[in-house]
Amino acid sequence: MTVRTRPDLSRIAPYVPGRSFPGAIKLASNETTAGPLPSVMEAIAEAAAGANRYPDNGSVAVRDALAAKLGVSAERITTGCGSVGICLELVQATSGPGDEVIYAWRSFEAYPVVVKVAGATPVEVPLTADYEHDLDAMLAAITDRTRLIFICNPNNPTGTVVAAEALARFLDAVPPHILVALDEAYYEYVRPEEGGEAAPDGIALAEGRPNVVVLRTFSKAYGLAGLRIGYAIGDEEIIAALFKVHLPFAVTSVAQAAAVASLAADEELLARTDGVVAERTRVRDALIAGGYDVPPTSANFLWLPLGDQAAAFGEAGVAAKVLTRPFAGDGVRVTIGDPDENDTFLAFALGAGLPIWKASQQG
Ligand SMILES: *Cc1c(COP(=O)(O)O)cnc(C)c1O
Repeated sequence: MTVRTRPDLSRIAPYVPGRSFPGAIKLASNETTAGPLPSVMEAIAEAAAGANRYPDNGSVAVRDALAAKLGVSAERITTGCGSVGICLELVQATSGPGDEVIYAWRSFEAYPVVVKVAGATPVEVPLTADYEHDLDAMLAAITDRTRLIFICNPNNPTGTVVAAEALARFLDAVPPHILVALDEAYYEYVRPEEGGEAAPDGIALAEGRPNVVVLRTFSKAYGLAGLRIGYAIGDEEIIAALFKVHLPFAVTSVAQAAAVASLAADEELLARTDGVVAERTRVRDALIAGGYDVPPTSANFLWLPLGDQAAAFGEAGVAAKVLTRPFAGDGVRVTIGDPDENDTFLAFALGAGLPIWKASQQG
């Protein structure tokens, strides 16, 4: 006698997190390398002392701090257990069995998981040859069952950006009853002046567009990945709908306190992103000089479209204790770490003992 679970669970591949083991350099999960600032550590310790109490289910202090920083009302903000938690809430609030959720592919690994967990149908639209969102194809994929569209900007794992004008045109073409989620997990790493095209500020685009919601997170530039807190900004009605499907107390008191303290130390934290931006340029230039194809990136990672060689590259990295994120048959995502970690990665990737990708390019 086995327990009856949903038959459709057999179609869900579990999320595969980045690997890590002691002594290895972890460039697999787009984390920041520095720990929390002293002021944030203090807030964490203080909140931990009150862990016998349930957290504020409305995350009022965080939402008020975000409202003040972003210039939007707190009623237009909600928090989640990471922005991935909000991705699931978005699907649950808009889509049920038979409903379709469109996103680009390859994109964030969690999208297919949350769509299928909610029982909805994923519609994956291939990226262009330049590893960018194919907005025309995404528009063409809309049917009367479409309820939600994710735009990952910059795109994980390719680092490419949908430019402001193209995105505005796209949003104007999407029927107003379909929700569009602009996933801006890497917003803080975008440098329009370097990318050529200006990446948009989703919050400005959501202004006056009630079917647009913006996702951001404290996990990446703010360095709180282990505490699990992200947020969404959107129309009050959407935010209210998200709150209905919200798992009660999903955002811990420690995470809320750390987020408020991090917002107070905003400038110091965001200054760290400049170092990552400088390093991503250095690493990309070195890889290109070494013969790799590396698309321009606006995030804290690089994409190596190694195709059939991706898995072998990842495995060779494991042996060399350089952990990247290979997607078999497609490419490898490499997080930008500290300069010395990046040097170790470059030594590995450019090492004479590893001419796999060159063989693939010549062959
Ligand atoms: C990392 C990431 C997130 C957010 O992760 P959380 O830790 O759940 O906030 C969301 N979207 C993308 C594309 C990401 O890469």
